[in-house]
Amino acid sequence: MNLKEHIRNVKDFPKQGIMFRDITTLLKNPEAMKYTSEKLLDFAKGLNVDKVVGIESRGFIFGSILSEKLNAGFIPVRKPGKLPAEKEQATYQLEYGTDTLEIHKDAIVPGDNVLIHDDLLATGGTMEAVCKMIEKLGGNVVQISFIIELSFLKGRDKLKNYDVRSIVEYD
Ligand code: AMP
Repeated sequence: MNLKEHIRNVKDFPKQGIMFRDITTLLKNPEAMKYTSEKLLDFAKGLNVDKVVGIESRGFIFGSILSEKLNAGFIPVRKPGKLPAEKEQATYQLEYGTDTLEIHKDAIVPGDNVLIHDDLLATGGTMEAVCKMIEKLGGNVVQISFIIELSFLKGRDKLKNYDVRSIVEYD
């Protein structure tokens, strides 16, 4: 399957100059859903995974499917103010300004093998911050998977120490 045929490209969203890669068109197609979850599962074959971490909000969709298939727990990483219990926080740089993400402190037990999933790798800033939070809580990041990689932004350079996988790339 050519997954790109199921990803909608929206010019100048959410702002001028950005080509938004929209996966809602992939989600509404059962074959594309199945293909995507099988590919992500295939990347994780042979790994021992205790927790799958999904990043709000599009990382929740296939993150939870993966966790069920891998017999692992699912952990949400959320935007500030959404998680109710004691939290770890990471603030990271964006093109203009900063952004913050949070995880519950008790979500990861030291020694947990963690697979992190998000829909798209752009600059890698988000994923790098999430990796640091998980490692601060004592987790081992065993794989990072994405559906889409914007290779021209070289996000992989920030994630050199990890096993980074993606299904489709845009140059
Ligand atoms: P980054 O931290 O630069 O790697 O940005 C990754 C996050 O921003 C992911 O959670 C993506 O969902 C979102 N994102 C960045 N660029 C795009 C894009 N062109 N299309 C869709 N989502 C994007």
